[in-house]
Amino acid sequence: MKAPEFAYAKPGSLDEVFDLLDRHGDRARILAGGQSLLASLNLRLSEPELLIDITGIPGLAGIAVSGQTLRIGALTTHRQIETSAEIARRLPLLAQAVGNVAHAAIRNLGTFGGSIALADPAAEYPACAVALGATFVLARRGAERSVKAREFFRGLYETALQPGELLTAGEFPLAAADYRSVLLELARRHGDYAIVGLAAHARVAGGRISDARLAFLGAGSTPVLAVRAAAALENRHPDAQTIAAAQATLADELELPADLYSSRATKLQLARVLLGRALAALAA
Ligand SMILES: Cc1cc2nc3c(=O)[nH]c(=O)nc-3n(C[C@H](O)[C@H](O)[C@H](O)COP(=O)(O)OP(=O)(O)OC[C@H]3O[C@@H](n4cnc5c(N)ncnc54)[C@H](O)[C@@H]3O)c2cc1C
Repeated sequence: MKAPEFAYAKPGSLDEVFDLLDRHGDRARILAGGQSLLASLNLRLSEPELLIDITGIPGLAGIAVSGQTLRIGALTTHRQIETSAEIARRLPLLAQAVGNVAHAAIRNLGTFGGSIALADPAAEYPACAVALGATFVLARRGAERSVKAREFFRGLYETALQPGELLTAGEFPLAAADYRSVLLELARRHGDYAIVGLAAHARVAGGRISDARLAFLGAGSTPVLAVRAAAALENRHPDAQTIAAAQATLADELELPADLYSSRATKLQLARVLLGRALAALAA
């Protein structure tokens, strides 16, 4: 199928973007890397009258550390994240995640902001952002606000972005040296969206786990923070009994919608296995 007809604009400043958003409202769509949006147009899942290509706007791409925060601009590509020494050193969870995002050709064009704004529940960055306690910067004409990742993802492909707003960056707090993180997922083929995945981040001191943030992907309509599993682990050695107790909480915490390939029971089993593997990796 071919995309429906649409007008195209490539503004050179944020002011111009806000003008276009004000004028066209929800009949306009932001175009970043186009890796998800263009496919959805070709499938006629949406029929915007205007695409606003933001790739010509200066200052929206890049990775920078300031104090205890690492900022990733919305237009930063997956490839830039994959090859960033700062990300590898300071946000190892994201460094592990990006290798699982699609395939090289898509990673060359797809952007951080596009992935966050799309809010696919099986995508890696949203779960990482929830696990790491990130916030997103949302800009509109003359104003900016920050929204915590946990509050940003509202439902299936639904976010806190309001009409007229643009996501400009994600801000990640840098963790203390005794925090570890691991990203694990199970997909039908490497690079496909995960069936189930887990972004895990925790303090590990003296072999004990504390302050664990376990964000599952593919486990509900948004990333799901498994707070009961984290409570079962708090200040404990991840021995077999503790791991089993944490795994047992998942049946109640994860939605795990069945799909064409996997039942809820299968996904629950995969989630339990991932949690066990993640705890072993964190404690190793
Ligand atoms: C075959 C295939 C496999 C894939 N596998 C994975 C995978 O395993 N994991 C994964 O995470 N992703 C996967 N993706 C998606 C890929 O990561 C996309 O690049 C990403 O989701 C969207 O980024 P984009 O820059 O291309 O956004 P676009 O396609 O341009 O936009 C996506 C949506 O976000 C909106 N948008 C974009 N930028 C902004 C902004 N700054 N502010 C507000 N709204 C904005 C657009 O209006 C649109 O609704 C896959 C894609 C394909 C085609």
